[in-house]
Amino acid sequence: MQGNLLHNSQSEEAIDRIRYFATEPPVFVAFSGGKDSAVVLDLAHRSGIIFIPFHNVTGLDDPAVVRFIRQDARIKMFSPPKSLTDLAVSYGCLPTHKYRWCCRELKERMPSCGLVLTGIRAQESTRRAGRRMVETCRRYPRKHYLHPIIDWTTADVWTYVHDRDLPVAPLYKTPSDRIGCVLCPLTRLLPEDLQRYPHIANKWLRAAEAAYATSPRLQAAFPHLADYWHWWLDRYAPWPKPNDPFPDEHELPNLCPQGIEL
Ligand code: SF4
Repeated sequence: MQGNLLHNSQSEEAIDRIRYFATEPPVFVAFSGGKDSAVVLDLAHRSGIIFIPFHNVTGLDDPAVVRFIRQDARIKMFSPPKSLTDLAVSYGCLPTHKYRWCCRELKERMPSCGLVLTGIRAQESTRRAGRRMVETCRRYPRKHYLHPIIDWTTADVWTYVHDRDLPVAPLYKTPSDRIGCVLCPLTRLLPEDLQRYPHIANKWLRAAEAAYATSPRLQAAFPHLADYWHWWLDRYAPWPKPNDPFPDEHELPNLCPQGIEL
């Protein structure tokens, strides 16, 4: 009983946060199909605000997750204008932990203005522990983020999901219990993923081929495409990863300075 009371006050506080900050349109809810965004979507509905739920299609997500998201016709699907291969050629490499261009081009590209509610939580990672509840997008200054459950624990989230009987995507396959792109460079490689998702592994490989064929920097660092491919797949190398041809690429070139207005 006490747990439920605490839980109610926690969700009421998150709803208050949404009502306080979501005062002007357009307001969006980023939906990944995972438990955190399912909670935020539900809180947004309960808050009574007008918003657009959306999902950025990366082409790299588990097909079962995408099918789950598509079941809800209210979720607006944004597709990127450039393929992974074209982007890899533009950037001259596949994305890495240090040169993570894929999120900005695929997962966080849309929208380019307004308030975006997300399910980001500080407990998820060291990087996210430094995030604030309200943030301005570095790429699009007219876009702001609100993370209304930033201080929730994983247990808080699952309790809310179960209490409210919320649907979430059918699989949580990573050890960290998070849904993300298959073969994401930020995660440990699960050897079975190469067999389980050959279609997506092939997309990464085709992008690696195209980047290698056009990037003198990659060719200088790796004698053959296979060397580059295996280097990229190696998620257990010491940090920083030896032989990184892009060791200093924290600052990303802006390939899409105008953004896209809704
Ligand atoms: S989840 Fe991983 S692969 Fe997908 S866009 Fe983000 S960093 Fe890139």
